[in-house]
Amino acid sequence: MMNKNWIESLPKMDLHCHLDGSIHPQRIRDYFAAAGKALPDDFDRWISVEEDCPSLTEYLRCFDLPLRWLQTSEGLSQAVVDLLHDARAENTRYLEIRFAPTLHLEEGLSYDQVFQALERGREQGERETGVRCRFIVCAMRHHSMTDNLAMLEAASGHWPQLVCAADLAGDENAFPNRLFAPFFSRAQELGLSYTIHAGETGSRENIYAALELGACRIGHGIAMAGDPELMKLCRKQEIGIEICPTSNFQTKAASGWASYPMRDYLAAGLRVSLNTDNRTVSRTDQNREYLRAMEEGGASREEILQLLKNGCLMSFAPQELKDAYLRELEQFGV
Ligand SMILES: [Zn+2]
Repeated sequence: MMNKNWIESLPKMDLHCHLDGSIHPQRIRDYFAAAGKALPDDFDRWISVEEDCPSLTEYLRCFDLPLRWLQTSEGLSQAVVDLLHDARAENTRYLEIRFAPTLHLEEGLSYDQVFQALERGREQGERETGVRCRFIVCAMRHHSMTDNLAMLEAASGHWPQLVCAADLAGDENAFPNRLFAPFFSRAQELGLSYTIHAGETGSRENIYAALELGACRIGHGIAMAGDPELMKLCRKQEIGIEICPTSNFQTKAASGWASYPMRDYLAAGLRVSLNTDNRTVSRTDQNREYLRAMEEGGASREEILQLLKNGCLMSFAPQELKDAYLRELEQFGV
């Protein structure tokens, strides 16, 4: 079987996927048209980047317009439904969808309304597609500790059925992970699991800090490459590493496949999985990431299957879903 067909046939999970980076562009066009508002002439460049994206600033700009639409309950519900349909089309069975609740309060929604809208979207999306999902709530590094803690309290009321974990996102260099110790100790008190964005922009220290703060997963973790001690630590603690190749190249977290640590991480026995990060912004999907990993990154079929298995083991999915997924993977020789 051709690699492409084989990858399409594999059951997949996407554990690192931001809602605001994965919307359907037409939804924004429709929303702006209905509101009688004008869109920028170079609209495409405001929602997606190419491989040669010049900077992280350019990349981050692509979240502005989606967040306008995502200030409404309808927008939030519809975005989840759309994402689950995308997942089904690529044979992804389970998604952990990230979003920062506080970014959706700008036009009057309350936390409760935000969570209710997501719940409605999930119910409809799961019913229509059979794809399952849960949500990861992101604290934002540039928000105040008070705001982030208020978000966490609101989210904890929806754990674990709707919200499966917390996360920390935003500018990793300006706001290092250690500043957020009070946030994560509160998450521990509330019984919430968490993953932390770390080592996306070159900081190994942020990965060490994430481990000390008690993260069970690391978002990206690219800066760990070339640090055998840190890799050993992650292996020992069975830390899940969520890598997102296309996004990592665009934001310059990594320079290209030649130096990309995916296969080194696998060889070191790390629990590393492959994810999309931002489907619309990065112009990607799960099948594309896996195909690139094989054809550009040199991954073998065995390595691809290991990535899939790792994803399941490190996911926050319900146990019955994990068991069924692993049984299905067995048919592919895992
Ligand atoms: Zn991310």
